[in-house]
Amino acid sequence: MNKATPLPPAKRGIPLFWFVLAVGLTNLVLFQKPLLAYAIPNFNLPGFQGWVQMLSMQVVQLWLYGFIMFLLALISVRLMKVVAAILFIANAMALYFMLSYTVELDRSMIANIFNTTPNESFAFISMGMVLYVVFLGLLPAAAIMLAKVRKPKWYWRALFPIATLLTLAGFLFATSTTWLWYDKHAPRMGSKVLPWSYVVNLGRHFNYLALANRTQIDLPAATFTPAIPARKQIVVLVIGESARSDNFSLYGYARNTNPFTAALGIVALPQGISCATNTIAATACLLTHEGHEASSRTTFEPLPNYLTQQGIETFYRTNNNGVPPITVDHFAHAADIKAECDTACPEAKDDAILNWNLHALLQDSDSDRIFVALHPWGSHGPSYWDNYPPEFAHFQPECKTVEVANCTEEELINAYDNTIRYMDYLLADLITQLKAIDNADTAMIYVSDHGQSLGENGVYLHGLPNAIAPEVQRHVPFLVWMSDSFKASRGLTNEDIMPEETFPHDFPFHSIMGAFGMTSDIYKPEYDIFHIGR
Ligand SMILES: [Zn+2]
Repeated sequence: MNKATPLPPAKRGIPLFWFVLAVGLTNLVLFQKPLLAYAIPNFNLPGFQGWVQMLSMQVVQLWLYGFIMFLLALISVRLMKVVAAILFIANAMALYFMLSYTVELDRSMIANIFNTTPNESFAFISMGMVLYVVFLGLLPAAAIMLAKVRKPKWYWRALFPIATLLTLAGFLFATSTTWLWYDKHAPRMGSKVLPWSYVVNLGRHFNYLALANRTQIDLPAATFTPAIPARKQIVVLVIGESARSDNFSLYGYARNTNPFTAALGIVALPQGISCATNTIAATACLLTHEGHEASSRTTFEPLPNYLTQQGIETFYRTNNNGVPPITVDHFAHAADIKAECDTACPEAKDDAILNWNLHALLQDSDSDRIFVALHPWGSHGPSYWDNYPPEFAHFQPECKTVEVANCTEEELINAYDNTIRYMDYLLADLITQLKAIDNADTAMIYVSDHGQSLGENGVYLHGLPNAIAPEVQRHVPFLVWMSDSFKASRGLTNEDIMPEETFPHDFPFHSIMGAFGMTSDIYKPEYDIFHIGR
C-alpha cells in the first residue's frame, strides 16, 4: 500500500488490554518497595520454591489490579481512568508515609488517620511529600487521564475480567505449594500491598465502626441456688484452637497424645461437630446461648459478659484473636500477663502464660463464684513447631517450615501431634492448680473451636465453608474435668454427664450456668451436662 489510510475513530488510541497492562506494571514498579523489603528476606531463596513465591507475588498483584480495572471498564472506561488516576495519587502519599515513618496501613493506622486533626495533617506536609505526590502521583495520573483508550465492544469488556479471574485461579492452583507461605505472611504483607492495603483497610475500618456501634442485647437477670454456696465455685472454660478429635488418644488415636490428663480423671464426651470452621464464627457460637444455629454476628451478650453482669467474678485470658467484644472484670492478653509475670515466666507467645499464677489468683479471691475463660493459640497452623517449647518436641522428626511441600506427611503430623500433646500438658497443669485450691468446687470444660486439615486430599488448615468442609475440620474434642467435691455436692458421676452425640458448642453456655446453680429465662437444662435428668 502506497498511501496510509487514516484509521476510523473507533480504531484510534491504545487498546484497553495494553493500557491496563501498562498501568498495572507501572503500579508494580513504582509502589512495591515496602512489600518487597518485607518479602525478599522471607522468600525461600535460593531454592526453587523461593522463585515460585516471588513470581506468584507479581502475578497475583498484576492480575488483581487488572481484574479491578477491567471490572470498572465494564461500567465505563472513563470511570476506570479516574479511579486509576486517584489510586496513583493516593499511592504516592501512602508510599511516602510508609517509607518515611515505617508505618503499616492496617486497620488501626487507617483509624489513626481519621483521628488526625487538620492541623496535625499540615504538620506532615514536607518537601519530600510534595515531590512524591508530583512525580509518582500527579504526573502518572495526568498521563492516564490524557491517554486515549480504545473502547472495545461490550462482550470483549465482559470477557476480560472473567478471563483474568480464571487464569489467576488456574495459576494459584498450579502453584498451591505457595499457599501456606501466603497464610503465614499475609497478615504482615497485606498492609504493604499498594493500593489494596488502604482500600481494604478503609472498608474494614468502617465495618469495625459499624460492629463496635451495635448495641449488645443484654440477657435476662438470673437467680442463683443456693444464693450463697457452701464452698467457692470455680468454672474454667478452655477454648481450644484447631484441635481435631481424630488426633486425641482420648478419642482412640493410636498415638498417646493425652499422656498428662489421662491419669487425672478427665472425661472425653462424645466428639461432635463444630458450628463453623473458622475461629470468629465458632467462638461466637460457642459463647452464645442460642446454640449452633446462631449467627456469627450475633448481638446477644456472650457468656463471659453475661456472667460478669450477673455478679460472677470473671477472668478472660487470651493468646488468640477473633472473640466477640468481651467486657469482664479481668481481661488480659498474653502480653499483659507476661508484663505482670515475675517468677517462672513462660514466653509471651507460649500458651503456658495463660495458666500463670491462676492458683494464687483463684485461692486469694473473696468471690464465691468465679469464671475463667482461657483462649490459647493451641494447634493453630501452619507453623505448628513454633507453638510449643523445644522440650515438648516429642514426636520426631517434625516439620519446621511453613512450606509443607518440603516436609513429609509424617513430619507434619508429628509437629501437629506435638501441639495436641502440649495442650494436654497445659490442661493437666490447669487441673493440678484447680485441685490445689482449698474449699472449692471446681470444674473445667475444654472444647475446640474447629478442627484442622493436615493435607488430606491436598487440603491444609481450616476455614472451608461448612457445606464442603471435610470432617476433620469440624470434628472437635469436648473434655470435662470435675473436682471430687463438685461431683459429690451435685451427686454426679463421670457417666452422668455424657450427652448424646451432637454439637458440643451448644453445651458450654448452659452447662456453665448450671455449674453455678444459675437459672434465667434463657437457660436450657437439656444443654446442661451437669443437670441430671436433662
Ligand atoms: Zn480457630
